[in-house]
Amino acid sequence: MIETDILIIGAGPTGLFTVFEAGLLKLKCHLIDALPQPGGQCSELYPKKPIYDIPGFPEVLAGDLVDNLMEQIKPFQPGFTLGERAEDIEKLEDDTFIVTTNKGTKHHANAVAIAGGLGSFEPRKPQIEGIERYEDHGVAYMIKDPETFRDKKVVIAGGGDSALDWSIFLANVAQEVTLVHRREEFRGALDSVEKVQELVTQNKINLITPAEVTDVKGNGKVEAVTITIHDEAKRFQEIQCDAFVPLFGLSPKLGPIANWGLEIEKNAIKVDNTLDYQTNIPGIYAIGDVNTYPGKLKLILCGFHEATLMSQSVYQRMNPNKKYVLKYTTVGGIDGFDGSRK
Ligand code: FAD
Repeated sequence: MIETDILIIGAGPTGLFTVFEAGLLKLKCHLIDALPQPGGQCSELYPKKPIYDIPGFPEVLAGDLVDNLMEQIKPFQPGFTLGERAEDIEKLEDDTFIVTTNKGTKHHANAVAIAGGLGSFEPRKPQIEGIERYEDHGVAYMIKDPETFRDKKVVIAGGGDSALDWSIFLANVAQEVTLVHRREEFRGALDSVEKVQELVTQNKINLITPAEVTDVKGNGKVEAVTITIHDEAKRFQEIQCDAFVPLFGLSPKLGPIANWGLEIEKNAIKVDNTLDYQTNIPGIYAIGDVNTYPGKLKLILCGFHEATLMSQSVYQRMNPNKKYVLKYTTVGGIDGFDGSRK
């Protein structure tokens, strides 16, 4: 039996940063993740994608952010159960919990922080007949290494942050970038939309809207796509390319956590956002992408904030008679950190 103060389910950025905030309060953490490596979506889906909205980092690659978080939490020596999925939870009479994984590993904790993000996720695929024949042969639903596209002709489809950010990034890597979106307006950050417009003006991105990729052609690998342009004439355009990358987001699945008696709304766990991100079961918290409350934004920095308030709540839960006075960390000297804010 693995013993800990806070058992964190999910080692994505939210779960990792929890270790730091809990560590400052001298609370010990252990993380479980179904994936073999920490980092959640950042490591699994877009390690080489730049992120522009982490405070203090004008630009940081998702993979580097995970490396930095791992470095930041090192002094607190968290435990990891990787490659195992949290399956069952049992609340004991003393209000502590036992969480068992699919491989039978048992963890005993005072509090459970579910930082499960999107759970197990699958990319949404476009409705194009026979597209599966080109998967891994030019069709990719996520970009793990942008170098794969160096000097290639790439067609990206989508209107969210991912499609915009990758178009911006690949504009300086690929030989040719075409961005296809079915609407005139984009869902992504305004700043990214403006950057794309700028690159279109500089002829670095070829933007086609409102339009959809409706066919993929090639002999064993992608050689061209057919684009249907949704204007009055409903025109078709064929573009020669080496890669087609539809970035339509992910369809989330909560998995076994959905059966834990927690209040669920649209695949996310409802929490008390007026206080500490606790669920309807006292002692079980939900932080990061996995939770929902009015105004929720699925952003890394929101997960960091939620992790901080949740850690304070667990401290109070474990030390009901102690008053904690918030102090600040110093800028340096985290090495050999003594666990207190100075
Ligand atoms: P996740 O990163 O999803 O991690 C959750 C972890 O929990 C996963 O590793 C999963 O395996 C694990 N897990 C789930 N269920 C279980 C279980 N039962 N047992 C064990 N493990 C489990 N956000 C930004 O702020 N800025 C950006 O620029 C940005 N760009 C993005 C680009 C893309 C392409 C995508 C997909 C997302 C982007 N995001 C961005 C969103 C950001 O990645 C998420 O907000 C963030 O990853 C949420 O962190 P998390 O730790 O809550 O969850």
